[in-house]
Amino acid sequence: MNLASQPTTSTIGHALLWLRADLRVTDNTALNRAIASGLSIIAVYIATPMQWYQHHTSGRQIDLIERRLQLIKQQLNEINIPLLILECDDFSVVPDTITNLCQQYQISAVYCNRQHPWNEKQRDIAVEQALIAQDKQWHCSDDYCVLPPGSVLTKQQEMYKVFTPYRNAWLTQFLSHNYQPVTNTDKVVPSPQCLDLLHESMAANSTIPPLNYAKQDSVLWPVDDSAIQQRLQMFCETKAEDYQQQRDFPAIDGTSCLSPYLAIGALSARQCLAALMQTLPQCVEINKENGAFVWLSEVIWREFYNHLLNSYDRLSKHQPFQLYTHNVQWLENSDHVRAWQQGKTGFPIVDAAMRQLLATGWMHNRLRMITASFLTKDMLCDWRIGERWFMQQLIDGELASNNGGWQWAASTGTDAQPYFRVFNPTTQSERFDPNGEFIRQWIPELKSVPDQYIHAPSLWSGFDSVDYPLPIVDHKQMRLLAIDSYKQAKVGYDSQREA
Ligand code: FAD
Repeated sequence: MNLASQPTTSTIGHALLWLRADLRVTDNTALNRAIASGLSIIAVYIATPMQWYQHHTSGRQIDLIERRLQLIKQQLNEINIPLLILECDDFSVVPDTITNLCQQYQISAVYCNRQHPWNEKQRDIAVEQALIAQDKQWHCSDDYCVLPPGSVLTKQQEMYKVFTPYRNAWLTQFLSHNYQPVTNTDKVVPSPQCLDLLHESMAANSTIPPLNYAKQDSVLWPVDDSAIQQRLQMFCETKAEDYQQQRDFPAIDGTSCLSPYLAIGALSARQCLAALMQTLPQCVEINKENGAFVWLSEVIWREFYNHLLNSYDRLSKHQPFQLYTHNVQWLENSDHVRAWQQGKTGFPIVDAAMRQLLATGWMHNRLRMITASFLTKDMLCDWRIGERWFMQQLIDGELASNNGGWQWAASTGTDAQPYFRVFNPTTQSERFDPNGEFIRQWIPELKSVPDQYIHAPSLWSGFDSVDYPLPIVDHKQMRLLAIDSYKQAKVGYDSQREA
């Protein structure tokens, strides 16, 4: 459909496309709406280094964003939309930056896609108010999730707190509306004024200025659309059907590895589902536990956590969902935290995972669960310390899923595992890395350890010859201590409420 030929609003002034976590030109709701307005478009990305620092955004993710913006600039240039890269310290300066831009370039309407963390929502409220005060239009679209937050509710019109009923309701709604991704590659013809003002900057600055942040290399992740779409397509065609059997084994390349692209919006969740449904249309049948359905469910976990974040402000504010867990008496042992961060706990599966995170900025989902459980239960360390460390390292760091994953593992969240169920890191290792292949890949010191001791090398008679630490904690003791601490916290909370 040629959206550019169907102007729906006044063609006075220009439109501003404000890119945030939606760094793509195809299937971008805000861009499509800006094009449909019939106005000529200027795009902007606002770097906010202090805000990133406060949000613990990883240097790898910012590097990925920078590389992606470089590409987006070219793609937007091809459809005659200049991209400006601006910098403000933090969100508080953004309203002035946007309103100044509007004045400078005679912009009459701003288009963007909604973000769900609390700080981002407050920023947008402030921008909207500033624009309305200047008689400008503000168009903020739902785009980050397939179904908008607030649209999947219980009969009592509340947000679900348990995943499976949420997933069923989500699927019912998804199927009844026949949601499909939209794409747009139409040429937009900007007005002459727009060209006069910005043509020079489009021609002269074919490269974007480096983003001002302590970046870390993200080259393991190609940013061009063909590579991203190929990865998605290849996963749907060759891996999705076996996903259920393979997804828990970190030595197997059995998951999609698309999370970094979803986090910065280089790929949309709609595009993922469209590719899956086109390749394996039967995957959406509820209760059909095929691999593709399980993968679809993982994408729905992303929706669940984003919808929760949107409904409960406290999740953006370092607070637990389960209020009683405020009372848990966490242990403070900075040596243990450092050992966990550096992959030196003496538990090989935990250490291999943490070293993979340090070296690549990515970690397999099973290992995220194991390492998060280890920090919160075996070390009885406050989950917020782990949540922060993950955000600082992860290339796919995303507040909703990271917070959801940490609160799940720490038994402080909505759909959390019960506090008395504690992962045993050694049996998890035996189950999900049976031959120690993943462990040996990341801990070369353990290469010579026989298979039968690879999950607990300190039990091997030759351990003295290996340069590897003894376990920093006793799992059995810590399990009991953790269970008792949660129990005490609950008893204390219940009696406070009764009093
Ligand atoms: P696949 O298995 O191929 O799944 C496809 C997509 O579904 C993923 O890319 C992701 O967008 C989504 N997804 C999969 N599993 C989950 C899940 N459990 N929760 C939410 N969404 C999911 N995911 C992030 O994107 N960012 C994070 O910061 C993040 N932090 C986590 C922290 C902890 C403690 C835990 C337990 C999980 C975390 N996850 C996070 C979820 C999950 O581990 C990753 O999404 C997944 O490992 C990414 O790999 P993949 O793309 O190969 O996933």
